Amino acid sequence: MAGRNFLFVPGPTNIPDRILRSMTVAMEDHRSSKFPELTRSLFPDLMRVFGCEQGQVFIFPTTGTGAWEAALANTLSPGERVLAPRFGQFSHLWIEMMQRLGLQVEVIECEWGEGAPEAEIGRILRADDAHRIRGVMIVHNETATGVTSDLAAVRRAMDEARHPALLYADAVSSLGSIEFRMSEWRVDLAVTGSQKGLMLPAGLGIVCASPKALAAAKDAKCARAFFSFADMQRTNGEGYFPYTPNLPLLYGLRESLDMLLAEGLANVFARHNRLASGVREAVAAWGLGLCCKELRWRSDTVSAVTMPPEINGAHVVDVAFRRYNLALGAGLAKVAGKVFRIGHLGDLNELMLLGALAGTEMAMADVGVKIEPGSGVGAAQAYWRRTDPVPKKRVARSEVLYASHSAGSINA
Ligand code: PLP
Repeated sequence: MAGRNFLFVPGPTNIPDRILRSMTVAMEDHRSSKFPELTRSLFPDLMRVFGCEQGQVFIFPTTGTGAWEAALANTLSPGERVLAPRFGQFSHLWIEMMQRLGLQVEVIECEWGEGAPEAEIGRILRADDAHRIRGVMIVHNETATGVTSDLAAVRRAMDEARHPALLYADAVSSLGSIEFRMSEWRVDLAVTGSQKGLMLPAGLGIVCASPKALAAAKDAKCARAFFSFADMQRTNGEGYFPYTPNLPLLYGLRESLDMLLAEGLANVFARHNRLASGVREAVAAWGLGLCCKELRWRSDTVSAVTMPPEINGAHVVDVAFRRYNLALGAGLAKVAGKVFRIGHLGDLNELMLLGALAGTEMAMADVGVKIEPGSGVGAAQAYWRRTDPVPKKRVARSEVLYASHSAGSINA
């Protein structure tokens, strides 16, 4: 089909042309004296994106799943207990991995569409007088259901229980898009992949570890070889890796970090919130709901739109792709067919999203969802027109233009 595919799955996300160009590089000697010029700046800048003041970041040539494994295997021992709420496909898969690594997982079963149940976590930790639970495992943004858990509240619950467990956070579909404050929330291990908020291809699994997590790694007994923190620590300080790194991805990461830090993380988060709010206005105008069960958990990176019972969400996804060249996310596992997902993260603006919303409306109408064509697009347009499009810090020139031309209609 002519024209670009409209990629609106919640990862992989659109790669900015600037990043694509930065990855077109000839191969280099990764043991040369020049190589660290590229790599050494990546670690501190990634720490900034994690909101991590103290600790260490590890860049593995893997995906988010590998980063999960690296975080677990380096800091826990077989037979140790961990506490994990299950509220979507990614928390489910992570729990399965914990079990396969020989951990004893105390699972808190939640309805899909809920977020981490802080009160229940607190209750279980308070009852664990002997402090046998070693880790609390939270998927910050459950990509399957469009739910962002309140990590600050989970940390408060752990503190109130005076429990020393490590706090693990899957930030795969939140980092670089939704506020993440590793040091403030005292997250001990945070993991992400490169193909979402970092706007890169899949292929980097990134783990950020607190000093407490690094100390735990010294005694942990789970087997690890490729994913060893210690091997990375031996070489990373000088700017090298224990094995051949993926050079184009590292150049791409440099460019991605430059883009995120130049926009300003606060502005990046505000942009995602504003775009997500427009999508939510559209969903409401269609007369449909979200899988997410509470306002406070609504995700700014992905919306899982609930289908009327007579409609299979997979048909919407299929028609959107085949007829309109629009890739939406299908419902996964328990919510397969019941929802479809619109990813709204990464390198994105209002007009791109309006195209996606228009295509979604056409696909929904084609498969028999009773919506008014144009209603969602109109609602999103109205929302974006009446809200401030440009973060305050960077509006100087446009403010002058608005003031001289249109006497405030944009911000009305
Ligand atoms: N965790 C979350 C929240 C995800 O959304 C994903 C993938 O979409 C993963 C983990 C797994 O990451 P990957 O597919 O990069 O292995």
